[in-house]
Amino acid sequence: MRIAVFSTQSYDRTFLDEANADSRHELVYLQPNLNPYTMALGEGYPVICVFVNDVLDATVLRHLATHGLKLVALRCAGFNNVDLDTAAELGIKVVRVPAYSPHAVAEHALALILTLNRKTHKAYNRVREGNFSLERLEGFDLYGRTVGVIGTGKIGQVFCRIMQGLGCQVLAYDKYPAEALAAQGVRYASLPELLHASDIISLHCPLTPETHHIINAEALAQMKPGAMLINTSRGALIDTQAVVAALKSRKLGYLGIDVYEQEEALFFQDLSEQVIEDDTISRLMSFSNVLITAHQAFFTRNALEQIATVTMGNIDAFVAGKALAFEVGRD
Ligand code: NAD
Repeated sequence: MRIAVFSTQSYDRTFLDEANADSRHELVYLQPNLNPYTMALGEGYPVICVFVNDVLDATVLRHLATHGLKLVALRCAGFNNVDLDTAAELGIKVVRVPAYSPHAVAEHALALILTLNRKTHKAYNRVREGNFSLERLEGFDLYGRTVGVIGTGKIGQVFCRIMQGLGCQVLAYDKYPAEALAAQGVRYASLPELLHASDIISLHCPLTPETHHIINAEALAQMKPGAMLINTSRGALIDTQAVVAALKSRKLGYLGIDVYEQEEALFFQDLSEQVIEDDTISRLMSFSNVLITAHQAFFTRNALEQIATVTMGNIDAFVAGKALAFEVGRD
């Protein structure tokens, strides 16, 4: 099968080639993101393989459907970038990788927390320059703190256990509480209670119309003064302008994000020699208590292997006419 692989990075090629070592599929690697401006690149491919920032809206799907598109193979878990209604109407199947390494993302959330708290990124630079002062590097014990977890699916559950292992009290909010987690000492609470009581809040729910801007000005107002907010899920869970205002007013004490509302124009590219035109991310980068990583939470060898293997398995199943175990909406 000929497959157009959009948003290809070197590591995608490495791991997908490994999973396709017998060359049963012809993988055509394309660097650009898929969007209405680049959709012509996907013409004539029955299968396209896409990632988090590819745009599969009605325009793109309708155009590619007229050029033979039958299957969208997401190399990620989230599918908020796909217009599923239009895909269904056009008879285009959408498959994903529902779980590759919940540990990778949960551990990255912990990395953001520890870095923001203990300022190891600043200490590293200081010591390299011969500055051994501890001034302004003070942190706080995580032990005994209350951590609020919004969304306790695969990643949220791993994250809850990690934080419990550090001696934190874990509060959780989910539309569908996980009984096993409650039995292990995680206490489910309403969203207002979680916002009010947590020292650290970490977002692990998907982006849906319901969760869009779940952290807005109103939610921020309910949070503890000086609280830490962590987002490794999707940028638009947070109203970025409201968060900037909360950082400026000192209401929000720390922000750690691996995802950003307007990340499509920035992330996964080296823009170090260019002018960054996005004033909001520039403002965020100017705060000393903000830590931004560029959607790397998933980025472990284990996860990349799993993504490539499951993606190829999804495509194999489609080509063989078998049931699609990881079809979005069915898995
Ligand atoms: P999951 O489907 O296993 O869990 C999501 C949980 O969110 C579920 O328990 C669900 O009930 C809950 N939820 C849904 N709507 C909710 C709402 N309105 N309020 C509260 N809870 C709600 O997903 P997962 O595998 O744990 O992944 C979570 C998210 O992490 C994904 O949707 C994706 O956006 C993000 N993600 C990010 C990266 C990264 O590299 N940064 C990698 C993988 C996944």
